[in-house]
Amino acid sequence: ETLIEELTRTIRAIPDYPKEGIVFRDITTLLQDARAFRRSVDALVHPYIGIGIASVAGIEARGFILGGAIAHQLTIGFIPIRKKGKLPADTVSIAYSLEYGVDEMEMHRDSIVPGQKVLLVDDLIATGGTAEAATKMLQEMGAEVVAACFVVDLPDLGGRAKIEALGVPVRTLVEFE
Ligand code: 5GP
Repeated sequence: ETLIEELTRTIRAIPDYPKEGIVFRDITTLLQDARAFRRSVDALVHPYIGIGIASVAGIEARGFILGGAIAHQLTIGFIPIRKKGKLPADTVSIAYSLEYGVDEMEMHRDSIVPGQKVLLVDDLIATGGTAEAATKMLQEMGAEVVAACFVVDLPDLGGRAKIEALGVPVRTLVEFE
């Protein structure tokens, strides 16, 4: 079974979630499958071994699960990027637009030193708005965002181009329409 076949088999599609007309790609079924989880993390980690990346920045909440495993495997640190109000120490934040209204994400101000190489991780890229905001916030703190990686790309929503426009290569394992 190829990786793409395994991901297609283990990622579940939930129709009409979170609202009618949306097909949600549920990775919890992938995470429950030991081999699919292992293979996904291995595939995401592979290009980033030994190139001086200092930290994984993971986007709450599914980016924590994959990002934590990736950081562990690379033997590097982990930086949580969280919804507003969740981090206890001094934070920097960035506002970004959702389909309806705006939201804000935060990271600890002292989690980046200028020039630090960071790998951005989330489970899925759709419109790219979330990863774009995270990339901008990291870059504003002086991080060098070496790449952004995701298990799933929804290419019809055009997220990849938003991240590449910031000079950051995007890597994904599987695409769904
Ligand atoms: P974007 O900002 O690229 O439009 O949306 C991506 C963000 O929303 C990611 O943090 C991702 O976890 C979440 N997301 C949006 N749609 C889905 C989906 O179908 N499945 C999963 N697992 N996450 C989604």
